[in-house]
Amino acid sequence: MTLGAECPRCASPVSDEDGTWRCLDHGVITPLWRPATADYGTFAEHLTRAGGMPTFLPWPLTPGWTVTDFGTVAVPDGDGKASFITVTGAMPFKRKRSRRTAPESVSRRPAAALML
Ligand SMILES: [Zn+2]
Repeated sequence: MTLGAECPRCASPVSDEDGTWRCLDHGVITPLWRPATADYGTFAEHLTRAGGMPTFLPWPLTPGWTVTDFGTVAVPDGDGKASFITVTGAMPFKRKRSRRTAPESVSRRPAAALML
């Protein structure tokens, strides 16, 4: 697997003409590099392509959560201008307390006191 280039504004395929990347709709762009399938190999390639641009990943991931997408906006052999990562998973359902049983100190405290 390898990263593919697409337009960062509309996700259309882009073309490279002598180092100038173009989108048919948006003209000259810096391409967004994303994997077809997120895996360890493409993530390593992503980090190399991003260069000095950090990719923030919540770690450790909550059990059951996984990295499903990532990308970086960068020209080849240059540092990234932006990067993103997507993680997905299920959260355990927590039952909310009803307003009647909420602690009085939280529900009736003046707003100014919450700002301290
Ligand atoms: Zn575009």
